[in-house]
Amino acid sequence: MQPDPSTNADADIYHEIVETLDDLICRVLPDSTVTFVNAACCRYFNTRPDLAVGEKLRAFLSEDRCAAFMKEMHILTPANADAVVETPRQMPGGAHGWLRWTLKGLFGKEGQLIEVQLVGHDITDIKQAQIDSTQHSQQLEALHIATGALLSTLQLEPLLGQILDAAVSAIPAAEKGMIYLIAPNTGQLEMRASLGYSDPRIQKFTVPGSRGYVARAVRERKPIIIADGQTDPAVRLHGSSSEIQAVQSAIAAPLILEDEVIGAISLDATRRAAFTETDLHLLTSFADMATAAIHNAQLHAEVQKLALTDSLTGLYNRRGFMELGRREVQRSLRFDRPLTAIMADVDHFKYINDTYGHGIGDLVLKTVASRCSSNIRAVDIIGRYGGEEFIVLLPETDLFTAAAVAERLRERMADLPVMAGGVSVSVSISLGVAKASADTPDLDALIRRADSALLAAKQNGRNRVEIQ
Ligand code: GH3
Ligand code: MG
Ligand code: MG
Repeated sequence: MQPDPSTNADADIYHEIVETLDDLICRVLPDSTVTFVNAACCRYFNTRPDLAVGEKLRAFLSEDRCAAFMKEMHILTPANADAVVETPRQMPGGAHGWLRWTLKGLFGKEGQLIEVQLVGHDITDIKQAQIDSTQHSQQLEALHIATGALLSTLQLEPLLGQILDAAVSAIPAAEKGMIYLIAPNTGQLEMRASLGYSDPRIQKFTVPGSRGYVARAVRERKPIIIADGQTDPAVRLHGSSSEIQAVQSAIAAPLILEDEVIGAISLDATRRAAFTETDLHLLTSFADMATAAIHNAQLHAEVQKLALTDSLTGLYNRRGFMELGRREVQRSLRFDRPLTAIMADVDHFKYINDTYGHGIGDLVLKTVASRCSSNIRAVDIIGRYGGEEFIVLLPETDLFTAAAVAERLRERMADLPVMAGGVSVSVSISLGVAKASADTPDLDALIRRADSALLAAKQNGRNRVEIQ
């Protein structure tokens, strides 16, 4: 039972309890005249009970805050005797916190408001947790965007730009940023993407020798945090640009690909001590992503150089496909990421050849290839696996989504005949879909599984999708 402060014995108990609480407790009359303050409340408002009692609330609170309290107080009714008001709280050392004030009305027999008790409880931790959680979801969102960028293009420079964009939006303290790669011929760090810098000299920026914090992150192969560029001269960048001179704090992380440092990512701020360890940790995630992007782009270039493509369709040939596909399977196993394969085969293609001739057969194959590749993502790997057989690997894709992609490919072929040499040829494809798992330890096993799904699609009537 709650003590009733209106009786003497209960008043003693009440005071004994409220004086030991950390919560700020005060009572006011409907006109806001203070009738009681506990010790915690006195400490907070820097007053004494004998000074505070008899004063109006506005002696302690700003006009706005008073108005907020008065508004809540005057809508209290016996049936609805509680209200809550949240206010910012000044913390020791100038930090900001929050108080949640619970108002409770005491009513007379006629139902008229007699007094209001205000209990201020510190909710800084709860609020901070809410802010952290919002910030955390913003960071996840930015990571998501960056991953999306990674999966949508193999062009290195725009990709690095997108990763930098996402990093800067995930880490609000960052005002500017750069991604550097080590030039193979000179061994120097060269800037390959920048954000927030406008000086044209920075567009062709090379870190001189071993100076600067970025070079240090590369040399020491670990992320670093610079709290104050003025008092940390050993790591200061002696760049001639005033924009670089203005940098007061920074975080930098090396890009490490298979044990070799290939570059670095840095985020800068013109404010001192702008970054936290959490920011540094997050930057490391972006560094990993940038590394994966660079790796992908390099692989892509490598495969192109080796001419592992099919001359009729322009897709990867079987060897090119296997080369890229194996790495994709390894990555999916290593990082436990979803990976699916679609195997497609033209239905009754022998009949098409026999009826319209080999030339038209070839045109049909080209059309199948282009309709398939224009209906998948850039990151999906598509190859011509055999004569009229095509295969697609879909990284980061579950079976359900892959089946939907396969169905889309089937529709794109079946819905529109191929116009070739003045004739309209109806073409359909059958597709088998399979997902990489523990029992498909390599690409060959995954292909076998997709192939067996394809066989089922043929047996079940063609022009359809089956899942294994
Ligand atoms: P199914 O529906 O069971 O797949 O029947 P299908 O006729 O498509 O299958 P089959 O394997 O019997 O025939 C495939 C044909 O594809 C045989 C082969 O001559 C032809 N072919 C393979 N490569 C090419 C090519 O590059 N150009 C042309 N025009 N035909 C090709
Ligand atoms: Mg066929
Ligand atoms: Mg075939």
